Amino acid sequence: MNPELIKAPSRCIDYVVIHELCHLVHHNHNKEFYTLLQAIMPDWQKWKFKLEKLMC
Ligand SMILES: [Zn+2]
Repeated sequence: MNPELIKAPSRCIDYVVIHELCHLVHHNHNKEFYTLLQAIMPDWQKWKFKLEKLMC
């Protein structure tokens, strides 16, 4: 795991884990992938944004 990721808030890590779990069902970023992600983590966009800010 990326060391920068360990410092990220735990919800950001949850987002990464959930994202990867969704890829077990849908292997690409299609509409169904995002529908599933949205169902599991409705506020995923907030955590994705925070994560991207932390990474750069
Ligand atoms: Zn992905």
